[in-house]
Amino acid sequence: MRQYLDLKEKHPDALLFFRCGDFYEMFFEDAVIAARALDLVLTSRDKGKEDSVPMCGVPYHAARGYLAKLTELGHKVAVCEQMEDPKLAKGLVKREIVRVITPGVVLDDDVLDPKLPRYLAALVPSDRAKNGARAAAPNGRARSDDLPIGLAYLDATTGDLYATEVPCSAVIDELIRVAPREVLVDAALLGDDKHSVAALRQRYRVPWNPAPVPASDVAARELKLLVGEASFAERPLALRAAATVVAYAKATQPIGTLPITKLVGYDPSDAVVLDETAIANLELVETIIGRRTQGSLLDVIDQTVTAPGGRRLRRWLLYPLVDVAQIRRRQDAVGWLVERPALTEQIRRALGKIADLERLAGKATLGVATPRDLGRLRDALVQLPELVELVRSGATKLDPLPELLDLRAAADRTLPALATRLGKALVDEPPYVLKDGGVIRAGYDASVDECRRLADGGKDEILAIEAREQKDSGIANLKVRYNRVFGYYIEITKTHLAKVPTHYVRKQTIATGERYVTPELAELEKKVLTAEETLAAREAELFRAEVIAVAEVAARISAAGAALAILDVCASLADVAARRGYCRPVVDDGLVIDLVDARHPVIESMLPPGSFVPNDCRLDAGELAIAAAGTSSDGGTPDPMRRGGEQLLLITGPNMAGKSTYMRQVAQITLLAQIGAFVPAKSALIGICDRVFTRVGAADNLSRGDSTFMVEMRETASILAKATRRSLVILDEVGRGTSTFDGVSIAWAVAEHLHDAIGARTLFATHYHELVALSDSRPRVRNVSVAVREHKNEIVFLRRVVPGGANKSYGIDVARLAGLPRHTIARAREIMAKLEGGNFGLGLGATPQLSLGIVAPHAAAAASAAAAAA
Ligand code: ADP
Ligand code: MG
Repeated sequence: MRQYLDLKEKHPDALLFFRCGDFYEMFFEDAVIAARALDLVLTSRDKGKEDSVPMCGVPYHAARGYLAKLTELGHKVAVCEQMEDPKLAKGLVKREIVRVITPGVVLDDDVLDPKLPRYLAALVPSDRAKNGARAAAPNGRARSDDLPIGLAYLDATTGDLYATEVPCSAVIDELIRVAPREVLVDAALLGDDKHSVAALRQRYRVPWNPAPVPASDVAARELKLLVGEASFAERPLALRAAATVVAYAKATQPIGTLPITKLVGYDPSDAVVLDETAIANLELVETIIGRRTQGSLLDVIDQTVTAPGGRRLRRWLLYPLVDVAQIRRRQDAVGWLVERPALTEQIRRALGKIADLERLAGKATLGVATPRDLGRLRDALVQLPELVELVRSGATKLDPLPELLDLRAAADRTLPALATRLGKALVDEPPYVLKDGGVIRAGYDASVDECRRLADGGKDEILAIEAREQKDSGIANLKVRYNRVFGYYIEITKTHLAKVPTHYVRKQTIATGERYVTPELAELEKKVLTAEETLAAREAELFRAEVIAVAEVAARISAAGAALAILDVCASLADVAARRGYCRPVVDDGLVIDLVDARHPVIESMLPPGSFVPNDCRLDAGELAIAAAGTSSDGGTPDPMRRGGEQLLLITGPNMAGKSTYMRQVAQITLLAQIGAFVPAKSALIGICDRVFTRVGAADNLSRGDSTFMVEMRETASILAKATRRSLVILDEVGRGTSTFDGVSIAWAVAEHLHDAIGARTLFATHYHELVALSDSRPRVRNVSVAVREHKNEIVFLRRVVPGGANKSYGIDVARLAGLPRHTIARAREIMAKLEGGNFGLGLGATPQLSLGIVAPHAAAAASAAAAAA
């Protein structure tokens, strides 16, 4: 117990898995928590005594499942092992904590999703935010929203480490993109509940640890060595956050080394700024309803065949580029592959056989690689030269290998050499557990071979002895057996006891007979057991040497893995482009978006081929556009869809016509273009966007406790505050959450502001036809509508976006399609006729809803009865 308490003291915030023989035991409060979480029987030590201690336990061989469950529930677990063989230990068995598993630092393949990074993040505030927030605001209210916060995140399985600084108000958006599983945060930030970081916790639900960070100064110094003294001079908080995650992750691995080889510093403005709303509304990585991957944009474009490729593509999609040169470099790689479909297919097949080099390198460095891991690593490394050769075979003088597909890191000659080494040392299919033995290949090590011969030979000899003794004694069922207490012994059943030879030494009487030993058996036993023990120790030693050899070149392995990840991503994008008929967009620094025959990538993929109706879209926020508005270059009649100067497209049309789909497809195509992908269109021109904003209906965040309208207005406010002329703004039915007059007025004013003050490329869908008039006074507003046709009193959705505003909402027609009762539809038409005749308000200054409300229920019933009768 004292030993237990000593260890527990070092990890007060973790559940302690205390190894006792074949079990991990938990005591005190830990036992109560674990028993509840894992549905275990809670017992107690020294049962019945006054100060009995609650305890529970799990068998060691089943521990992985339990550990996984606890960490997924957000617990932190310290695993304590017996560090010596209890048989050999003098006195108390030595025990040590060998690793700590936390939600953010999990190394178990059974828990990790191969295509998702597992991030541990840290937030570090500036000192000003810590002490001065309240003092800084004269009115007593904390205004620390825009003080910078250092944010860093580490995937301990691969050593990927990123660090940045973001304003406090943007922290949640960045956390949503990164999706860490655990956040370490300076206690000062959590303590003050007026401070906005405290509110972050409500929004981003993973474990938040007020991290008591051990020795992060040491970590900071080490990181500086890694990245160079100067490189984070401008971002001291980012470096401190990085040091915090590293120090915390280190403390979880007292035995292994973290596989960190570089620290990537970045500025959120290096990528398209995407807030929580945009990521959710555009369904980039999961759907709004059900939060499933299937049906997301990522799901459509992710045809990667390796786990690192999947992780990399996810990163690309969440961090679209804003630098034209960088985007073109990616396009060149994708385009090169698109032109070589057969080669791309071969490359993908070859890649599919290559294991996760980044994580395998990480596991070797951490010292947790299993024999099977090294076997998979070897089998992957062996294939690299051939794969590199394959990719290079596609290059010609005129059409050389694009920069991104330069596989120099994968062509590293040390890697096949390592594969050869591993091939010599390890058997073809190494077992998962080292203790099972059979790891080292025959012929590799003389001592292993000798021990195996002895151990196996021993078994042969036993069979020989058994046969001989049976013959000599004439006892046919004489058996040579083994148990832990006596070692090898001869067992003879009762009926044959008379025939037992005199040199047998009796050891034990059992119900069915007697057990004997002989000097010969004792001799043999010693030989076999020593051989087995020596063999196990020698195999372990040799295996560790292989792990160390791998760890020594882990950075090179991981670099090769990164090169292959990029190859995989580009091949995936090329595959999608070819199969779905995407085009290479022209990307430039202009302010135009011009799409011809564009489709919605996700909806198109769900419909039968060819049935999605393509549409054009032209948006232009350029200065020239203002001058050119209304004229065409050849002086002829301007094409109303392409007359220039269309900064704000006002989209009208009935419900279900396809407005939302149209707007989302423009946004998704823009983002695809900026990650370097091909896009679903006949042709596309994309002037880089710095931010993409969305305000899309139906994303009510009821869990946050705000009303729909409140959320809508908050999102709209944020757009008006942050959008620039370079942004792309998607507004879907703004003002829907309130009464018609309020709604129209707000929508109108928002549209004007976007036109007059911001000038961002904007798609604005509305069911308020009044807004169509906006284009009379605002030169860069264009009306378009999604066409429907009336056919024998039915409406037919054409899904085609055409110039001009809709003059009718067809709401009642849609209601009829939806199955509203016939008399209700008839009554609605009647009321609408009255309203359209200007017969509303009734001088009461009320909204239509209110004016209709004054019809007493019985009068309404009478009226509809009359209508039905008529
Ligand atoms: P709105 O926003 O105008 O109410 P939506 O954009 O939600 O309409 O579209 C309604 C449905 O119509 C979508 O679920 C989609 O399946 C279908 N749809 C929309 N646009 C197209 C299109 N261009 N081609 C084929 N189907 C479409
Ligand atoms: Mg809609």
